[in-house]
Amino acid sequence: MKRVYAREEYCVGCRLCEIHCIVAHSNYPDNIVKAFKKQKPRPLPRVTVEEKGEVSFALQCRHCEEAPCTKACITGAMQKDPVTGVVTNEEERCVGCWTCILVCPHGAIRRDESGKKVASKCDLCSGIDDLPACVKNCPNEALVYEEREEQVKAG
Ligand code: SF4
Ligand code: SF4
Repeated sequence: MKRVYAREEYCVGCRLCEIHCIVAHSNYPDNIVKAFKKQKPRPLPRVTVEEKGEVSFALQCRHCEEAPCTKACITGAMQKDPVTGVVTNEEERCVGCWTCILVCPHGAIRRDESGKKVASKCDLCSGIDDLPACVKNCPNEALVYEEREEQVKAG
């Protein structure tokens, strides 16, 4: 399956990927100003830029082949689509127990406590766009969306 890969050598740590992830998952996906000024609470970014010194890169869910989060989820909210391979959290079923956060080897799930407590993670912009918003909006092509030989098993 296609996944998002970081090209650390091109990342300048501008965090535009985080910004555009927020916008894509807001009620105003086509209006960055409204997404930031009108929506309260604002969605969490599902991509996180890690930074140390001159090194920075964007990190998000690896959509593992044998996703530990789906096996650990106590309600079945976290699921891997058998056709596309995309791992998503069905927020209506999520009870905010954070078990998935404990088992994710990549630290790719965040606690969203802005309303009903739910686990928040990358959904590859499924149902929003063909190209994940982080990839589409990175000014340096520091994120690519492609299929690679490697298998991401349990992380
Ligand atoms: S938008 Fe691109 S360059 Fe900016 S932080 Fe994200 S990955 Fe790095
Ligand atoms: S274990 Fe973490 S990286 Fe793997 S599919 Fe689940 S959330 Fe994504």
